[in-house]
Amino acid sequence: MEYTKNDILTVKIEDIGDNGEGIGKVNGYTLFVKDAVIGDTVSCKIVKAKKNYAYARLMEILEPSKIRVAPVCKYHRQCGGCQIQAMSYEAQLAFKQNKVRSHLIRIGGLDAEYVDRIMEPIVGGENHFHYRNKAQFPVGTDKDGNLVTGFYAGRTHDIIANTDCALGAEENKEILECILKYMKECGVPAYDEKTGQGAVRHILIRKGFDSGEIMVCLVINSTRRGEFLPEKEKLIHELVKIRGMSSISVCINSKRTNVIMGEDVYTMWGKRTISDTIYAVDTEEFARTGQGVTFCISPLSFYQVNSRQAEKVYSVALEYANLTGRETVWDLYCGIGTISLFLAKAAKQVYGVEVIPQAIEDARRNASNNGIDNVEFFVGKAEEVLTEMYARGEAGADVIVVDPPRKGCEKETLDTIIRIGPERVVYVSCDSATMARDLKVLCDGGYRVEKVRGIDQFGQTVHVESVIMMQLVEK
Ligand code: SAH
Repeated sequence: MEYTKNDILTVKIEDIGDNGEGIGKVNGYTLFVKDAVIGDTVSCKIVKAKKNYAYARLMEILEPSKIRVAPVCKYHRQCGGCQIQAMSYEAQLAFKQNKVRSHLIRIGGLDAEYVDRIMEPIVGGENHFHYRNKAQFPVGTDKDGNLVTGFYAGRTHDIIANTDCALGAEENKEILECILKYMKECGVPAYDEKTGQGAVRHILIRKGFDSGEIMVCLVINSTRRGEFLPEKEKLIHELVKIRGMSSISVCINSKRTNVIMGEDVYTMWGKRTISDTIYAVDTEEFARTGQGVTFCISPLSFYQVNSRQAEKVYSVALEYANLTGRETVWDLYCGIGTISLFLAKAAKQVYGVEVIPQAIEDARRNASNNGIDNVEFFVGKAEEVLTEMYARGEAGADVIVVDPPRKGCEKETLDTIIRIGPERVVYVSCDSATMARDLKVLCDGGYRVEKVRGIDQFGQTVHVESVIMMQLVEK
């Protein structure tokens, strides 16, 4: 049976897709229903029909699933951010465990029984809301010409006004309202993507959850330094009243692009960076040990968005690296040196590589602030720096740790790792699909996956962090 657009069907949801969509079948015809949860019986309307399957909109929940919970945010269906907010936290964890597992099998080519034998249970978190230490809010104008900030409605660039995201820091609302008020009073226009005119594009807010320090960075469309914000003292005067305010800056981005941040940042008030402490945790129960490393974080640097869960990720990575104090370790995609510095305490020497110069500046400062001197950082692309150093005979390694962005490692990086031939590779990943693709290359190059563990860093979303350990078996 084939169906067409606007048909209304009743379907029992029996599976969940990688992006959180509910999947069910009617007479052998597959329906993908966004916002429907496994176990729901729903009525839905087809929005896009193909020969064997269709995408459908959830119309009514006829019988709710046992794993369905009341969503906390009233925008959760419109916003692309929290795809699985209507699922219980336990069900979210089970979904993520299975997502990593099936990527390893389907994409990584690993045997299902083998994966089930080595895979450890996913590590959940205590705080499933308000855990994000970073948020980037687009600024724009609504249909009636009002200044608004909030979030893009799923897969569009229409801004839905909401200053109170359920994943962000409590202070975000007050900060955003303060900035909007200033913009209205001083006639500062929002940036308009369609014309390339206007001033304020995005507002970046970061909070060190341990230090309590807050950073605000306004991303501005301007090429003339100093003229970006008229009467900026008025804005600063209000912002500094907010508890924890430590750094106020502007970032210049005049390009017609979707990339949020530009390359130049000017501090208008306070410090250039905020600080935060990541604690070492007990590997078995993930309780904090009290020993921490304090990091400076500048606006352009990457910093894990869920600090408490990042501690668990780093702990698993360190456990998997299995260091004795004699090893030379490379930390590729090192950011501000978070993993590098934890590794350095247990290794002979650590080398970090990262493409963003400001992050390496932070990393070097972080090493010296924490009194760690057996680590050296290089600015550049992992695929270039590692390959060039290897060609010069300067890239020996016992262990290599990689923590690439979602797109995974460049092929060249993997090839160079195989040529260097470290005993172990620890792969930290925020996208298990690209990780599975990359580990297949490493397996073909003589490595075997020995350990796997997921960590939930991104509650309410379909994203999952995972760490794997690969051992060299043949050269
Ligand atoms: N390990 C760090 C950062 C991980 S995020 C932490 O846990 O905090 C990934 C990092 O890779 C980002 O800092 C990004 O700027 C950097 N990056 C992206 N592409 C890169 C490349 N080709 N070479 C080196 N670093 C890269």
